[in-house]
Amino acid sequence: MLMQQAFRQALPVLKKLEAAGHEAYFVGGCVRDALRGQQIADVDIATSAYPQEVQQLFPKHFDVGLAHGTVMIRERGETYEITTFRTESTYQDYRRPDSVTFVGSLEEDLQRRDFTVNALAMDCRGRLYDFHQGQSDLANRILRTVGQADERFSEDALRMMRAVRFVSQLGFSLSDETIVGIQKNAPLLEKIAIERVREEWLKLLKGPNATAALEAIIHTQLYRYMPLRQSDAPAVLTQLAQLPARYEHDVMCWAVLLFFMADDLVSARTFLSYWKLSTKQLEQSLAVYEILQQRPHRQWDNLWLFQVGLETATIAEKLAHILQLIVEPDDVLSRYQQLPIHATSDLAISGADVIACCCQTHGGPYVGQLLKEVQEQVLTHQLSNDANILCDWVRQRYATQQRAEESYERTAKNNNII
Ligand code: ATP
Ligand code: MG
Repeated sequence: MLMQQAFRQALPVLKKLEAAGHEAYFVGGCVRDALRGQQIADVDIATSAYPQEVQQLFPKHFDVGLAHGTVMIRERGETYEITTFRTESTYQDYRRPDSVTFVGSLEEDLQRRDFTVNALAMDCRGRLYDFHQGQSDLANRILRTVGQADERFSEDALRMMRAVRFVSQLGFSLSDETIVGIQKNAPLLEKIAIERVREEWLKLLKGPNATAALEAIIHTQLYRYMPLRQSDAPAVLTQLAQLPARYEHDVMCWAVLLFFMADDLVSARTFLSYWKLSTKQLEQSLAVYEILQQRPHRQWDNLWLFQVGLETATIAEKLAHILQLIVEPDDVLSRYQQLPIHATSDLAISGADVIACCCQTHGGPYVGQLLKEVQEQVLTHQLSNDANILCDWVRQRYATQQRAEESYERTAKNNNII
């Protein structure tokens, strides 16, 4: 097999391990993807060397995965994960092995891996090691567990999410035994930390074959153990599967789910809280959700676009189009570029200027209020963003407000209200 550039670049790492008397191989997703003729993402390496030996050979190392026998190294500007051959012994909580045991051979190491297509290895001469018919499953585009599906899924329930995620990413089908194994073990998914389920779910939705993967989630009933609105989850996932969409951004994934599964902003927030999103993603997804509610009967204007921001508006516009809420997407990018300002700090005057314009010595709530009003005037092209013009306007506005307040107080006093 012709070695991809990423492998050729990593060859010195394998050779260094071999020269020190160890075995070393490329393993897992990189070999799978190279055989599929795809560009490989990260090159993972398995070795007979113990972590301490790896650390000694590669001075530039990070010990992030040491508990699992993994040493991360930097070599010629690239990062590689080097993992000592290991097994995973008993899994008492259905997710993490209780302990890892180092083993002597590649064959034993490959035995612990989830799917046959992920259990392939390649040495520095380009020779393949395939103990589980991974190549034939690759050719037939089938995902099959290494060993008995039932056992492998009950050991580690995350593998079920990985299975459907690979359906989406690789366009492969699940073998019959894999389907039955997932059906049987699906309830164990609830034992998995939601953050890990979430990562697989996002990869699934963003994959090129999300339709087939969503169908597999319905068919195997995995959805019943995911934080989805259960009353209509199969119907919603079917609708989702039929959308002609590529969700290139996480927020698109969440917002489309909210569109189908939330009744209002409150329930949308509750729904997302189950998935434990970062605050930034949560707020942005809710913002997109709100735009989708309004967009069918509201056109973009400068104020709305300024308030929402370009990224959120772009995501919302794409989704609104996919969901057929609008006929044509608006060109929010050029509209945004033409905004007179893009942040309050772009205004020609600052808070300190407002205080000075109003001949005051101290700030107060009036400063923020006036800045907000000035901002609206500039955004709607009623005032141009020029310091003198804005200062004049602020001065007049402040004076008018003062007069109004004074007259109110006089009237109130006369009427004995205060
Ligand atoms: P990706 O392209 O997403 O990186 P990958 O197959 O490389 O896909 P990783 O999560 O990077 O997936 O894992 C690397 C390898 O480790 C897998 O190919 C598989 O052999 C093994 N592996 C990962 N997670 C598990 C698991 N939960 N159970 C068994 N083996 C696993
Ligand atoms: Mg990988």
